[in-house]
Amino acid sequence: MTPLASYACLPEQSRGRRHAEPPLPAHATSVRNPHQRDRDRIVHSTAFRRLVYKTQVFLNHEGDLFRTRMTHSLEVAQLGRSIARALGLNEDLVEAIALAHDLGHTPFGHAGQDALNECMAEHGGFEHNLQSLRVVDELEERYPSFNGLNLSFETREGILKHCSRRNAELLEQQDPGGVASRFLQGTHPSLEAQLCNLADAIAYNAHDIDDGVRSGLLTLEQLQEVSLFARFHAQTVAEFPGLASRRQLFETIRRMLSEQVYDVISATRAALQRVAPRHVDEVRRSEPLVRFSPSMHAESQALKSFLFRNLYRHPQVMQNTDGARTMVQDLFAAYVEQPEEMPTAYAQRPNRQRAVADYLAGMTDRFASREHARLKLGSDTH
Ligand code: MG
Repeated sequence: MTPLASYACLPEQSRGRRHAEPPLPAHATSVRNPHQRDRDRIVHSTAFRRLVYKTQVFLNHEGDLFRTRMTHSLEVAQLGRSIARALGLNEDLVEAIALAHDLGHTPFGHAGQDALNECMAEHGGFEHNLQSLRVVDELEERYPSFNGLNLSFETREGILKHCSRRNAELLEQQDPGGVASRFLQGTHPSLEAQLCNLADAIAYNAHDIDDGVRSGLLTLEQLQEVSLFARFHAQTVAEFPGLASRRQLFETIRRMLSEQVYDVISATRAALQRVAPRHVDEVRRSEPLVRFSPSMHAESQALKSFLFRNLYRHPQVMQNTDGARTMVQDLFAAYVEQPEEMPTAYAQRPNRQRAVADYLAGMTDRFASREHARLKLGSDTH
């Protein structure tokens, strides 16, 4: 195993967990470091298994081969680990953050999150990054003496990718000097956390092309306006004339992914050389260091905006999102009105709206649809 660089999050220097845990037996101490333990806790969590049935872009039941939040998270972890190893970063930590980064997503993708955020407008709002942290800090019920998974500071820091000032202040009150402090101080997270953000974008930009073409909503011709795609597509066609279009697509995406990975590695290496952080705390005080080169950044942004215009806003995708929005609104209103329809642990919580939001956010697409039908909340479009 490659030794970690001095600017990596070194497991032996972890800032630790929020709740004290009993000391490990002697034979266990050398087996897994704290970030490996975090990764394992995430993989065994209930919220992680639910990712299989949560929409990424295409509704979960629309086809068996589209990405779900689970396969998306695995792809982020794979890309993140490859880059982490090349840069001497902590691969276990990257894997833990990547596998947990979407745990707070509602059913039905962004439509579900937007609808829930609207329902919660007067009760503190709903934001999926913050919810991912709530899942690992509060909502998982797996340990006898504390809520949540009790993950290390570094994993939690990476999970909380964005945070509004107001939410950061609230978190800071509960956990002074914790993972929300950086949003008040204007500092940055570890390189491992920065890397997961970029790996997330690399992953969805690529797999949404694949899913978009598979669904018939995007065509190879249309994708020619995206320089990052067009370049590698032209290369592929020149090298393999007459190749079937599915294979053209996969080969193009493979080349795009590799190029972006190499680009991040070399641009980040250059930034690390220039800034020369000697410790993760110097990383936190420095400018963001994990990056694309300026030209790859521009190409990646162009691809993202292409997908936004042509896929995420496609009438067929939007039509599904309208149905999802109604479903979340109906369920929210029903549980607020009749909390006894939720499991007792949620029904008994004093802050009813937040309890409903937590319950709803945890649902898979199909569970939400079934609940909508069970509660007879109007004509189901799903
Ligand atoms: Mg993601």
